Amino acid sequence: APFMAYQTINPFDGSVVQTFQEFSDSELASALDSAADCFAGWRQTSFAERAAIAHKAAGLLREQSGDYARLITLEMGKRIEEAEGEVALSADIIDYYADHAEAFLKPQPLKPESGEAVIESSPLGVLFGVQPWNFPYYQLARFAAPNLMAGNVVMVKHAGCVPQCAQAFEKLWRDAGAPAGAYTNLVISYDQVNAVIDDPRIKGVALTGSADAGKSVAARAGQNLKKSTMELGGSDAFIVLEDADLDKTVEWAVWGKMNNMGQCCVAAKRFLVVDSLADRFLEKFQAALAGLKAGDPMDRATTLAPLSTEGALTKLVEQVDKAVSDGATLVMGGKRLDRPGFFMEPTILTDIAPDTAAFREEFFGPVALFFRVKDEDEAVALANDSDFGLGGSVFTQDVARGKRVAERIETGMVFINQPTWTAPDLPFGGINISGYGRELSGLGIQEFVNKKLVRVA
Ligand code: NAP
Repeated sequence: APFMAYQTINPFDGSVVQTFQEFSDSELASALDSAADCFAGWRQTSFAERAAIAHKAAGLLREQSGDYARLITLEMGKRIEEAEGEVALSADIIDYYADHAEAFLKPQPLKPESGEAVIESSPLGVLFGVQPWNFPYYQLARFAAPNLMAGNVVMVKHAGCVPQCAQAFEKLWRDAGAPAGAYTNLVISYDQVNAVIDDPRIKGVALTGSADAGKSVAARAGQNLKKSTMELGGSDAFIVLEDADLDKTVEWAVWGKMNNMGQCCVAAKRFLVVDSLADRFLEKFQAALAGLKAGDPMDRATTLAPLSTEGALTKLVEQVDKAVSDGATLVMGGKRLDRPGFFMEPTILTDIAPDTAAFREEFFGPVALFFRVKDEDEAVALANDSDFGLGGSVFTQDVARGKRVAERIETGMVFINQPTWTAPDLPFGGINISGYGRELSGLGIQEFVNKKLVRVA
């Protein structure tokens, strides 16, 4: 079959389930018209009116959680429990902004030397999001909910492998009573992405994805002098100090690496373990990974799910092969599973030299890079020797020490005694080539509003 950009392919067996037609240029033009028309009315609605729609959307997600979750598992292969967790988290994000947007955006009076001054937060207009497949609804919720609540309207180009999730999320907002054009799913090519960014009615661009996609979309936004936020890849360090609780830390290591089959921007990717614990950590970590059972991700007994696409699997296996040919040691795994579907063995690499590609690249899947370090200082130095700067974690029973280490880590998020994760009320984002801007929490809703000064003499 010819390659189609928007297609549901079941990662469990490789079957093509459904293929989607991209928008024609005239369909895209009318979608833009409709979004712009919608904004004119939507910006006039009250917070209470928007919140009623958002709460309805969150409620529908919860009521139909099973159907929404099965679409995720069908299209990108995550285990069904994880998919249900994602649906619940997405509903929580929508509710969170429905409840808090007004307070986050309330006018802030200043105390000028004379007269009055106030900073208002006005919506900007139509925003454009480009989103990845790894959390097919969560990514949309964290872009759409704050921005719709702020009075903006949104258009989204979702990843090609999750077209049904993309449609379901658009329908969710219509079912919740949002007017046509408030949330628009765009089934479009990269050229059309550029045309959307160029359209004068688009007032901001938010991308979550790889650094390469970020460079392309941020450059286009920059040429148009449009504000953008970039939530890109990571290579998070998982630091284990000598006073860590070994068993709990190994449990978190397995979760941090294997949650969503390692296909998280904030997955634990580099395990930096001090010498005194390194052998015991590695032995227990390896044993736990070896115990995972491949199977249908719809089946609750499955603990090893497929990767999202054949391309993702092939790329990862190639990265591992390259690392080994560059001198790294394969502790376990490294191969595609000999069965249908896009399965890969849980993999641990070590002896990764600083001048090799593996040391710098993101491994997006069930591949752990293991480093033995002398002490805390060496762990911090190695953690910071990365082009990325997204998250990271430190394991120690001394929380004060954990905080001191956290202060020295150069990333957007550091967690102590837990791998980096997300919640509606915690800001999410990175520095360096992990991007810029923040999503979620009170910060996320401030990215695409006009902080307008109103001054009375
Ligand atoms: P990706 O290939 O960059 O795709 C992300 C989105 O960008 C997709 O919708 C994709 O469309 C689109 N895209 C890619 N190149 C483009 C271009 N040149 N012009 C316009 N659109 C383009 O990333 P992915 O493989 O789906 O996702 C994995 C990456 O996302 C990892 O690096 C991961 O760390 C990162 N990520 C970051 C965060 C965060 O919050 N920081 C969260 C999740 C994931 P198509 O699907 O049609 O190609």
